[in-house]
Amino acid sequence: MRILIVEDDELLGEGLVTALKRQDHAVDWLRDGVSASAALVSEEFDVVLLDLGLPRQDGLSVLAKLRAAGQRVPVLILTARDQLGDKVKGLDLGADDYLVKPFELPELLARVRALGRRARGQARNQIVHGEIVLDPAACQCTWQGRIIDLPRKEFTLLRVLIENAGRVLTREAVVQKMYGWDEDPESNALEVYVHHLRRKLYPELIRTVRGVGYLVEPP
Ligand code: CA
Repeated sequence: MRILIVEDDELLGEGLVTALKRQDHAVDWLRDGVSASAALVSEEFDVVLLDLGLPRQDGLSVLAKLRAAGQRVPVLILTARDQLGDKVKGLDLGADDYLVKPFELPELLARVRALGRRARGQARNQIVHGEIVLDPAACQCTWQGRIIDLPRKEFTLLRVLIENAGRVLTREAVVQKMYGWDEDPESNALEVYVHHLRRKLYPELIRTVRGVGYLVEPP
């Protein structure tokens, strides 16, 4: 998933970025409310982790703006203990969940997975596409009951395509969902991953739509 972290605490921000990247997410990190609001207008995220006490514009205002604009991206509020009153306001404003600092990373990661799941309208943690089953928590892919060995980037690409099955995704859209701002895919990387996926799974799985991008048909 592509995740936006809005957090002005350097230590916490760094910890979150590291932990989420390790879980195979594309992560962007902003430290103030104004840039967060701007990014949320121009970019698409799957989950937002939102601190409330932020420079320039507080988290509740960011959230209010976001929902006023009709954006439904799942938002997890990170709140300090002395801001507990704001938790209620946050939920009223349309936050999906909250965590009180300090929290344990495994709990945060589980909640992020749950929000992603809810957003996709799936009750289970697995993503199923015909005979392909993806388990994002374990970063594991099985096909016809066999485990297919996929490096992280190939797994992420497959997941992005399957989650958007039936839609042609442009190269740019795929890259945006796979990588954060500070990561740049090497040229041709995407083509190489697609090639590997076709070889390890089956060639017709991913269609190249010439001049546009890639398509996985619905199962
Ligand atoms: Ca803060």
